[in-house]
Parts: sequence; structure tokens; C-alpha cells
Amino acid sequence: MDREQLEVDVLFVGAGPACLAGALHLSRLIRRHNQKVCSGARSGQSLNDLTILVIEKGKEIGSHILSGAVVNPKGFEELLEGMPEARPPYESEVVDDALIILGKKKGYRSPITPPNLKNHGYHVASLGKIVRWMAELCEEHEVEVYPEFPAAQLLIEEGRVMGVRIGDKGLDKDGNPKPNHEPGMDVLAKVTVLGEGVRGTLTMQAEETLGLTDKRQPQIYATGVKEIWQAPKEVRPGVVYHTMGHPLGTEEFGGGFIYTMQDNLVDLGFVVGLDYRNPGTDPHLLFQQFKAHPYVRKLIEGGKAVAYGAKAIPEGGLYSMPRPYADGLLIIGDSAGFLDSQRLKGIHLAIKSGMLAAETIVEALATEDFSTERLKGFQERFEESWAYDELWKVRNFRQSFQKGFYSGMFHAGLQFFSGGRGFSDPMPTKAGHEMMERLSRHPQNGAAPEFDGKLTFDKLSDVFLSDTAHEEDQPCHLKILEPDLCTSRCSEEYGNPCQHFCPAHVYEMTGDGKDLRLQVNFTNCVHCKTCDIMDPYQIIRWTPPEGGGGPDWKIL
Ligand code: SF4
Repeated sequence: MDREQLEVDVLFVGAGPACLAGALHLSRLIRRHNQKVCSGARSGQSLNDLTILVIEKGKEIGSHILSGAVVNPKGFEELLEGMPEARPPYESEVVDDALIILGKKKGYRSPITPPNLKNHGYHVASLGKIVRWMAELCEEHEVEVYPEFPAAQLLIEEGRVMGVRIGDKGLDKDGNPKPNHEPGMDVLAKVTVLGEGVRGTLTMQAEETLGLTDKRQPQIYATGVKEIWQAPKEVRPGVVYHTMGHPLGTEEFGGGFIYTMQDNLVDLGFVVGLDYRNPGTDPHLLFQQFKAHPYVRKLIEGGKAVAYGAKAIPEGGLYSMPRPYADGLLIIGDSAGFLDSQRLKGIHLAIKSGMLAAETIVEALATEDFSTERLKGFQERFEESWAYDELWKVRNFRQSFQKGFYSGMFHAGLQFFSGGRGFSDPMPTKAGHEMMERLSRHPQNGAAPEFDGKLTFDKLSDVFLSDTAHEEDQPCHLKILEPDLCTSRCSEEYGNPCQHFCPAHVYEMTGDGKDLRLQVNFTNCVHCKTCDIMDPYQIIRWTPPEGGGGPDWKIL
């Protein structure tokens, strides 16, 4: 098959805060380098006519980005230094924050807000709005930004990353070309930067092929499910509440959040650690139960849900990060696990990782050296930065909660007083899917949950609110590597947990006995990656669908 080739100098994969910050910072550093060379303050050659490209699989910039976003402004303050006119479109400065403890029927405002949940000086934001603004800023700085460009394959030759292959457009469900078939082009670059978000497809290819996770701890993930509500009455923007307790027990890690935004919008979400034991755990259902709690209900009852989304979160921290550099390659943002799970913040770290990548790349461009040895400078810069200090202090935090809430609180307390060390450093970690226990230990009660369609919704109603759409006549982007396992061992041993953990009703078991089969409603997929992470046999592979497919989030 003939494929077009596009040659660029630096390719950023994914238009999230990490890549957009990296591309913007790189463009400004190149200009600064050239000014210094011209003025004689720096030796060497000017870097002229370079192409910096950011590609994004979503239909538009921001349509696949989601966060319960309370932004530590540190990242933007550094990124935008010298650009006083550039102000991120935050919703509001945080005006009140609290920890709410939810019992079965009542909620209490904790008299003390734990230091890690204090958000004074931070900003509530819609990450979708933020990245759209960042993309415009990038374009003003001569960065090219292409949406609907799903990178499907990392191009690696003799251990060197050459660029990426974009997924084909116009294949039918059996993979045969349709009349509108367009083979995806190969985008070749001197440096490819992966910032494609959590559990990135290309990042996993790089990790497997180049051994980037050797001697690293497994990543620990969570899944966040959220809705935006139009509140029934006026709300003051900038209120940030985190909740603990209902509907979770003491074995699972997670909690809820309630943030208020402009225009009387309320951002509500629930995060569940993807290292739970009960195979019937359903993050979407837990979120509905959270909303139905009297404390939460009173805030939104009579209002209207206007948007829905879900996304996995990398919570493992420093010891779970892959080696983020290789020949021609850097990995940044959520793809590399730049997230502080104790403070529930990652945007400032994503921005910083993009900036550190840019500083490494400008040096590589000036020396025309894109080898592992040169790009290792990214790791060295990271280790000297505040981002490393922040992650070092919480390096064992999330691991502490793999044995339940009480053990987690005990270890987290010890770590607090020992600079993150605690009893053992690093704390032993298990991949989340290995924590899932057999169905026989968690018999399901069988009662189908009920939703009223006003305050609580079933998964399909929520998918409707996510504006998700995929071309139906295309190969299914969720690859089941051993389908027979689903109707045999998985059904018996775990009761097909994909039906529960997927927050978009993609996986459905139909028939029974010998006719039992798995139906994959891939057009519902909101691209959260939970199935790729939590499937107990690791036989689900999430791959990018045809460009532009997926949710079309505007304000998440
Ligand atoms: Fe998330 Fe997988 Fe369901 Fe898609 S199919 S919504 S990635 S769990």
C-alpha cells in the first residue's frame, strides 16, 4: 500500500496540556536560540525553517480531554513567563474547599481539610477550554496543530523511533477498503514526543519494544466518571469539595468531587481505584449512587445533566513511570505518569514535563543529535526540577492503599513524617487487574440497579450526553485477543467484569449456555481505557478508531 510521507522536525502526539506546552515552549526556545546566535551571544547555527507538529485523534482539539480540573497555576506561570497578555481561561479561583465525609445517609464537612486537599491559590477549570486556548497560542507561535490525526503505530527501525503511522480512513468492518479509503500517512520526525494521555497505544508499543518499563513497578490506575450539571439555583464559582465514604467500602480507593464553575455549572465526579477486588465493581453505578446521596442530591436535584465523560488516571507515581526517553523518543504527561495522586493534580506536572522535553529537544536540534544519550537529558532535567521533588514526597502514597483504607491511612501518615519513605521504600505494588478476586468470593445480588432518568442515569443515557459517535462500518477498535476465554473461564471465574467496569455499556453478554457470546458495542466507547487496564486476563487491546471518532466533549 502506498502511503504518503510527511517529514517534520518535531512531532508531538496528543493535544493535551503536556504536548501543547511542549510545542509552545519549544517554539519560543528556538526563537530565543536564534536571537542569541544572531547577536553573537551563542555560538553555533540558527535553527531555521523547522516544523513542529501536534497531532490529535479527536474531531477537534479538546474533544477527547477530560479532567476534574483544579489547576495548580505553577505550570502555567513558568510556561507563560514573558507573555503577560496570555491568561489561561480558568473558570474561577478556588474560594472554598473542604473534605466532606459521606455516611450512608448524612454528609459532614470535616472540620479539618487535609493539607493535600487544600487548594488555596488554585483555579477551577474546564480542561477542554484550556487546551483549545493553548492550541490557539501554539498556532500563533508557528506550531502546526492537526486534529483528526489518530496515531496508530509507532515507527521503529533498529531501536530508533522514526515517527508514527496514522490510522487508515475508510475501511469496512472486515478491514476491506471502501470507496473513500485513505491510507494513513507516515509522519517522520527527528524527535517524536508521546503525550497521548493515559495508557497510550503508542506508549505501550514503545514500552514493549524498547523495554522502557524494565525494573519499574506496575502502573496503578483509577477511573474517573463525571457529569456536568446545570445547577437548579445560582452557585458561586470556585467551590471545591472532595468526598470520602459512601458509596465505597474500606477496601477500595477512591472518592467523589464537586466543583462549581461559571454559568451555574457544577462539575461532579467519582474516582475509583482500578485495583478493586470485587469483579462486580461498576464505576458508573458508584457515581450514580454518589449523586443519589442526600448531601449531593440537594445540590443538583431539579437541575439538568448536560455532559458526561470518563477517563482513566495514572496514579502509581514515580516508581511506576517508564523510562521516558529512547533514540528519537520522549514520553511526557499522563503517558509517562506525571501525576501527584496524593494531591489529585497532574496538569501542572504535564505542563512541566512538556517544557522539560522542549528544553532537551532544542539542545538536540542545535547539536543534531537525537540519540538516547542526548535525550536522556530529559530525565536529568526532570530529576533537578520541582516536579521530581513533588513526586518524590508521594512516591509510595498510592501503593499504601492497595491493602485497604486503614492500612493506607497508617502508611500515608508514616510517609508524611518521613518525607515519603514510610516502612518500605519502594512499597511492593501489584498491577490492578491482579487484585481482582474470583466471583465465588463476591457473589452478586443480581438485582438490576434502577435509575430515575432525572438524577440518576443508565449508561446509555450518559453516553448520549457525551456526544460520542463513531463510523459504524469500520473495524472494531477494541481487539479481543482470545474471544473464547470470555464465554468460558472469564464467565465462570469473574462473571465477565467488562460488563461492569466499562462506563459506556460497550461490553454486553448475550444468550446463555452454549449460545453465550460477547457483543462489543464499540460505537459507544468514550475512550476511557478502563477495559485495557482492568480486564483480568489482559486480552482487551484498545486501539485508535478512525480519526474523529469518539466523544465530542466541549466543557469537560
Ligand atoms: Fe472505556 Fe473500554 Fe468502555 Fe471504551 S470500551 S468506554 S475504553 S471501558
